[in-house]
Amino acid sequence: MLKVENVSKKYGDFQAVDNISFRIDKGEIFGIVGPNGAGKTSIIKMIVGLIEPSEGEIWISRYNIKTMGEKAKQLIGYLPEESPVYEDMTAMEYLDFFGEIYGIGRQEVRERAEAILNDLNLKHLNRKLGEMSKGMRRKVAIARSLINNPELLVYDEPTSGLDPITSNYVMEYIRNLKGEKTILLTTHNLYQAEKICDRILILKDGRMVALDRVDGIKQRFGGVKYTLRFRLGNLTGIHLPVESRNGCKVALCSSVEEVNTLAREVVRRGGEILDIESHAPSLEEIFLTVVS
Ligand code: ATP
Repeated sequence: MLKVENVSKKYGDFQAVDNISFRIDKGEIFGIVGPNGAGKTSIIKMIVGLIEPSEGEIWISRYNIKTMGEKAKQLIGYLPEESPVYEDMTAMEYLDFFGEIYGIGRQEVRERAEAILNDLNLKHLNRKLGEMSKGMRRKVAIARSLINNPELLVYDEPTSGLDPITSNYVMEYIRNLKGEKTILLTTHNLYQAEKICDRILILKDGRMVALDRVDGIKQRFGGVKYTLRFRLGNLTGIHLPVESRNGCKVALCSSVEEVNTLAREVVRRGGEILDIESHAPSLEEIFLTVVS
């Protein structure tokens, strides 16, 4: 559905995006994460045709964004990081306005808008945008991005500035569009990214640090750790660092094999295993390690 091939972006002498390549399959949710200034918005703007790549090619479906930009744009529903403000328009007037740009009849716009905003739990279609809260305006902007029934949604920080409840609600809504739509989003919320994205690209200083499924990233950068608590008087012959805590011994193992070896040794020496806990690092923990 989307192919980004060896794309770079320079602003003057500054290399903001450096040789990025990825593909997104139809029906997938693909997340780009990275610290401030990593180049996420620049990539998004190149995909939706707002800025041109300095190098590389982008295809939306079979349309090259450089040569078939207008066709490509018809397939996209774009949610910018900050939506332009049309303070004096009501939500419905705003959506009618965009419906007209896309050549969609007023009745159809109303039906679609009402269905989308009902799903997003926004009721005040006749309230002016200038009188709406940030979360309400974000929902209207999401409705706008869907009004032309696009195949590819390109969402730049869809939940930025939203309270946790609204933020989860919006992410859940996006998750429910999976399959029906192909979705590319950027976010700083790694917990949500982990929950809803099929694959994730981690960016740092415009470069790709990792691109994989969440479990693939975890396997490569994370590694599950195991804490084994046991009782044993004499630690001679135990080859792992062991701490004494609350009357028992605690060892950190980095593989199942290490757990087995230690457990066998403890039992062989007459000790007792109390419990074993596994700890898989979250995407956020991995992110903090790989981008710092
Ligand atoms: P954030 O998470 O803060 O939104 P981002 O990952 O989206 O950041 P970009 O907005 O793509 O990052 O910016 C990447 C780099 O390019 C930054 O160093 C930024 O200052 C620079 N940059 C972005 N737009 C321009 C521009 N129009 N002119 C010059 N430099 C720019």
